Amino acid sequence: MTAPEPTCSRCGRARAAETDPLAALAWVSTKENGEQRWLCPDCARNHVRDIEGKLPDEYW
Ligand SMILES: [Zn+2]
Repeated sequence: MTAPEPTCSRCGRARAAETDPLAALAWVSTKENGEQRWLCPDCARNHVRDIEGKLPDEYW
């Protein structure tokens, strides 16, 4: 059985297109509603920034 080719759920980049093995390892897989989703390293970084950006101003 072959797993479907992981692609970034944000930018649609294919993990198979990753030439650097370390970059391929940096891909993040998450499960949402039982569905496996992937984020490329760039989008994973932006995703974290999005979460931090949602913190209320008074937090700082
Ligand atoms: Zn991406």
